[in-house]
Amino acid sequence: MTRLVMKFGGTSMADLERIRRAARLVAAEFDAGHRVAVVVSAMAGKTNELVAWTDGAGKAQKRPENENASNVTPVEGDDEYDVVVASGEQVTAGLLAMTLRNMGYDAITMMGWQVPIITSDVHGKARILDIPPAKLETALDAGQIVVVPGFQGVTESGRITTLGRGGSDTSAVAVAAAVKAIRCDIYTDVDGVYTTDPRIESKARRLPKISFEEMLEMASLGAKVLQTRSVELAMAQRVPVRVLSSFVEPGQATDQGTIVCDEEEIVEKHIVSGVAFSRDEAKITLLGLPNKVGISALVFGKLAQANINVDMIVQSEKRSGDYANQIFTVGRRDAQTAIDIMRDGKDEIGFDDIRLDDTVSKISIVGVGMRSHTGVAETMFRALSEKGINIQVISTSEIKVSVLIDEAYTELAVRALHAAYGLDKIGA
Ligand code: ADP
Ligand code: ASP
Ligand code: MG
Repeated sequence: MTRLVMKFGGTSMADLERIRRAARLVAAEFDAGHRVAVVVSAMAGKTNELVAWTDGAGKAQKRPENENASNVTPVEGDDEYDVVVASGEQVTAGLLAMTLRNMGYDAITMMGWQVPIITSDVHGKARILDIPPAKLETALDAGQIVVVPGFQGVTESGRITTLGRGGSDTSAVAVAAAVKAIRCDIYTDVDGVYTTDPRIESKARRLPKISFEEMLEMASLGAKVLQTRSVELAMAQRVPVRVLSSFVEPGQATDQGTIVCDEEEIVEKHIVSGVAFSRDEAKITLLGLPNKVGISALVFGKLAQANINVDMIVQSEKRSGDYANQIFTVGRRDAQTAIDIMRDGKDEIGFDDIRLDDTVSKISIVGVGMRSHTGVAETMFRALSEKGINIQVISTSEIKVSVLIDEAYTELAVRALHAAYGLDKIGA
């Protein structure tokens, strides 16, 4: 018998009525002959509430001499953070299993530590290391529907961990890989992956298929429909993933959704498949940096030591030659720490001044067709200039072009690019 993993996100678990609907979808797949493991998120909004509580508790514990931002351990690094925020998924897992039992199915929950889903010990953003499949397989083979809370795991030493926001997608793909499921179905509040976020552009179109590589770029550039790590894992473990709506009754949605698959399986290829955006950016400018060997290694070495990810980088020489200006972007939540680190190292690095702008956003176009077509970036720059949008920083890879712009123009830019590449006509 084939095994199937079904994952339900927060909006699909938001209340008892939605949980009952999810249970009907699970029951239908079970009745159709699959062995089913289900991975669930916490109720919509629950994780935010729990995170806010840990913020409060964490701040209350800070001693005055620790107030300096660079000395304070982030609340997320505290292993008790995970204990609190992992709890939302335990509730929905139990409720879904109870609902299935009431419908006459043999359902059972397995918490992250019971499976076990073994992770690294980076609390707040742990990585899954291993899922020994024996317990899951025994239950599935016995005809039980196994309900696993997403987002949570356990370290080798037995401490509870969480996988970073949106991590239930990754739990689902990892469980699918562990039990060799034929597919991992991700049920959410949209009926697939769209050419851009349908909340921003109502003309966005559903993509029947998208390649792993494009989905990976879309996710890491801000399309939160799938957690980036889940796509990485699906790609590495060759788990077919389908994204579809949970807001339907069984049988209604069989030909819907988006399949995330190998590029070779996609017949209708687009030059650009999607537009992604992220408001999670901050731009830091170092003015009057000595233009000498090793200076970038020094600047970015300090940031790397503090686990701060740097995304875009540009350096421009001053006309006089010996000094340069360097611009780089970091996640908005890391911006103040990055500034503090640079200020602490000002004498050693030797720059004149530092500036922070956290009212920027990053807009990206993604498509495998870029590999073989020219003029793709030019279309982007022209479309933005026609709307009077200034480009502050540009970065490219083989299948994406990203630009940094004033945050106020995010929606305008997304819609302009969506139109410029004819994405509103896909499938029409
Ligand atoms: P869940 O709680 O089910 O995990 P998420 O909120 O994490 O759901 O992800 C679904 C949301 O992702 C959608 O409501 C949509 O607004 C957003 N989204 C962003 N980009 C895209 C895209 N390209 N296609 C579809 N949805 C997208
Ligand atoms: N509940 C967690 C979050 O909101 C995990 C998830 O839903 O994927 O981040
Ligand atoms: Mg999600």
